[in-house]
Amino acid sequence: MTKIAMTTPLVEMDGDEMTRVIWQMIKDELITPYVDLKTEYYDLGLEHREATGDQVTIDSAEATKRLGVAVKCATITPNAARVEEYNLSQMWKSPNGTIRALLDGTVFRAPIVVKGIEPYVRTWQKPITIARHAYGDIYKNTELRIPGPGKVELVYTPADGGDELRATVHDFDGAGIAQGIHNLDASIESFARASFEYALATGQDLWFASKDTISKTYDHRFKDIFQEIFDADYRERFDAAGIEYFYTLIDDAVARVIRSEGGFIWACKNYDGDVMSDMLSTAFGSLAMMTSVLVSPKGYYEYEAAHGTVQRHYYKHLAGEKTSTNSVATIFAWTGALRKRGELDGLDDLVAFADRLEKATVDTIEAGEMTGDLAAITTLTDVKRLDTLEFIKAIASRM
Ligand code: NAP
Ligand code: MG
Repeated sequence: MTKIAMTTPLVEMDGDEMTRVIWQMIKDELITPYVDLKTEYYDLGLEHREATGDQVTIDSAEATKRLGVAVKCATITPNAARVEEYNLSQMWKSPNGTIRALLDGTVFRAPIVVKGIEPYVRTWQKPITIARHAYGDIYKNTELRIPGPGKVELVYTPADGGDELRATVHDFDGAGIAQGIHNLDASIESFARASFEYALATGQDLWFASKDTISKTYDHRFKDIFQEIFDADYRERFDAAGIEYFYTLIDDAVARVIRSEGGFIWACKNYDGDVMSDMLSTAFGSLAMMTSVLVSPKGYYEYEAAHGTVQRHYYKHLAGEKTSTNSVATIFAWTGALRKRGELDGLDDLVAFADRLEKATVDTIEAGEMTGDLAAITTLTDVKRLDTLEFIKAIASRM
């Protein structure tokens, strides 16, 4: 057959361990037989990050700014054990953190919903996508352990020599703790814009929540920025698209999310997004069925699976044992990137290919052919538990 053509290459960020093994299988079995795949390849495997002094991570992010769309394999974020295991010269930073800092994005995470893997929450019929603000708050904090009586203050010293601002945090009469956090109008604005754009792009309502009744300046600023940007730039486009922007208190949002039928985007402040995305992915069934895309306010997209490198399976694989690792989220990272490339370049065949590969993947599971993690939780009765490659080949046979 004639392969589907591409015009602009994807930025391909290869990774580590079991997901690196899956990466190659997906390309060989599911993509290159049908698509004349064009990529600019960056090896973010830990060995190559070490060899390049992590320059390869920066280069891959810069390439994403140039080409617009990237697909990323899971990568090891080194800890002390990894420094020893890989004989590293230093504890390199999280590649995702480095890429996010360079692209200044918002991370959207959505579960892949299939029949037979039922959410724990009975009312959920459609996916719930979390948009997590990925800057500031407690993730860039300054903390003090207060040894005894004394006063803790917040002090702002203007760069232009103007009047200082000062507020008492607490007059301590004994030992305690204190914390200073911050955020930036510019970062909150790009978070808001990325969320509104993503809602429009996917045709879903947008929810946002904070604790503005308690945090009357800090959280209130988030609420105001979202509302101002919505009124100025998005209200009409939302009306035209038949979707809504909805603000409520975070505790009310949590209660409504549980009662909802899904099918919306939930924009979360940094900490809320961290916690709620883990809760949602578990409640929807499996971490291995969660996709993730980083969307920058400048319109760059980076697609990946939400899970890690599945280290335990990799050690089994190295020992020559059979593994049953779920490749669905990594497949959907590829289809997400190919579809976006197709949309940007006006390649209908490429968009249709992405749709078809996703459908073949979902059909395979719904026909009862799945990896062990899903076989353990499915409500289907006649189930075949496949190993890593068998599952990918079962999808290929449906293509
Ligand atoms: P993980 O790789 O997500 O795996 C945790 C456990 O979840 C696995 O041991 C496995 O459970 C299950 N699991 C996850 N994905 C699966 C899949 N596709 N198929 C089947 N089961 C799956 O997290 P981790 O073990 O905490 O981290 C391993 C490495 O990944 C670390 O070095 C970490 O730095 C890195 N990491 C990278 C990213 C990223 O690049 N975005 C994200 C998170 C972690 P069982 O073993 O019980 O089968
Ligand atoms: Mg978390």
